[in-house]
Amino acid sequence: MPRLNIEQSQLFKQDVRKQLLVFLIAHLVAITAAAEWHSDTQSIMGTRVHAEIWEEDAALARRVLAQIMAEMRRIDAAFSTFRETSELSRLNREAGFGWMPVSDELFELLQKSREVSDLTKGAFDITYASVGRYYDYRAGERPDDETIRGALAAIDYRYVELDERTRTVRFTHPEVYVDLGGIAKGHAVDRCAAILAREGIEQGTISAGGDSRIVGDRRGKPWTVGIRDPRREDTMLVVLPLVDTAVSTSGDYERFFEQDGVRYHHILDPATGDSARATRSVTILGDDATFTDALSTSVFVLGPSEGLKLIDSLPGVDAIIIDAEGVMHYSAELKELAH
Ligand code: ADP
Ligand code: MG
Repeated sequence: MPRLNIEQSQLFKQDVRKQLLVFLIAHLVAITAAAEWHSDTQSIMGTRVHAEIWEEDAALARRVLAQIMAEMRRIDAAFSTFRETSELSRLNREAGFGWMPVSDELFELLQKSREVSDLTKGAFDITYASVGRYYDYRAGERPDDETIRGALAAIDYRYVELDERTRTVRFTHPEVYVDLGGIAKGHAVDRCAAILAREGIEQGTISAGGDSRIVGDRRGKPWTVGIRDPRREDTMLVVLPLVDTAVSTSGDYERFFEQDGVRYHHILDPATGDSARATRSVTILGDDATFTDALSTSVFVLGPSEGLKLIDSLPGVDAIIIDAEGVMHYSAELKELAH
C-alpha cells in the first residue's frame, strides 16, 4: 500500500487537488485490499461443516461465521435422532399415540419431505428409518431378514399425517420411525445462506457434508466443486465450475461396511429395507439445498435411468450420476453443455 501511495503522489506532486484524489484512490484500494476470505470448519451433525466468506469488515465476518455455526448446532439439536431431547425424537416417541403439535420449522420440513416422496413415488421416504434404525454402520451391524420383514410394514410416508391448519402430526402405524438425515443438512445450509443474504455478504460458500450452497462467485471466477471417484477417496472425476448454486452429493462411501462381499451403506431402498445398489454416487445441482439434498438421496434410490428421467422433467435441476459399474451419466442440460 505505501508503495502505491509514493509512486502515485510523485506523479501528481505539483497538483494538490490531484494529490487529494490520489489519496482518496489509494484509500479506496486500501479498503478493498483489506477485504479477505474468512472461514471456519467444525464437526457438527456428524459431519464436516465448512463456511468461507469474503468480507472487508473482519468483526462482521467473525460474527457471521459464529451465527452460521450456531445455526447448524441449533438444527442438529432439533432434528437429530441421536439426541433424546430433539423435537424429532419427541415426534418419534409420541406421534404414534395421536396428533402432536410441532414447530413450524419441523412441520415445513415434513411437508417438503412429503412433496419429494410424492414426486419420487416413494424413493425418498423419511419412514425408511423404521428399518434403517436397526443398522449400525460404525459397528458393522445390520438387522436380520426377519427384523427387516417385520419393520418393512412400517415404511410408508403416507403413515405420517400432517394437519396444515393445526400444525400437528400423527403416525397412523404404530411402528413408524422417521429420520430427516436425507434432507436436514440441505435445510441447514439453506438457512445459513439466508444469514449471508441478511448480512449483505455476496460471496461465499457453506457446506454440511455433501450439501453446499455457492453464493456469488469467487472474486470474478467460479467456485469449483469436485465429484470424487466413489472407490478412490483421493481421485476427482470431475470438477464443476459453479456460481450461485446449490449442490448435493450422495455416495455409498459415506457410511458403510462390507459383509461377504456386499456393501451395506446408509441409503436404503424403502421398498426392500436394503441398501440401494444401482448407483455409487449422485450429484444434484439446483437452486435450494433442501431440494438438492432430498433429490440426491432420491435419485440414488431410483438409479440412473429412472433418476435421469425425473431430473430431466424438473426445470433448473441437473444431475451427474455414477452407476454401479462406475459409468458416468449426465442430465440432458449438462450433456448439452459438455458438447
Ligand atoms: P449424507 O450427506 O448423510 O450422505 P445423503 O443426502 O446421502 O446424506 O442422505 C443419506 C441419509 O438419508 C441417510 O443417512 C439417512 O439418514 C437418510 N436416508 C436413507 N435412505 C433414505 C430414503 N430412501 N429416503 C429418505 N431418507 C433416506
Ligand atoms: Mg441427500
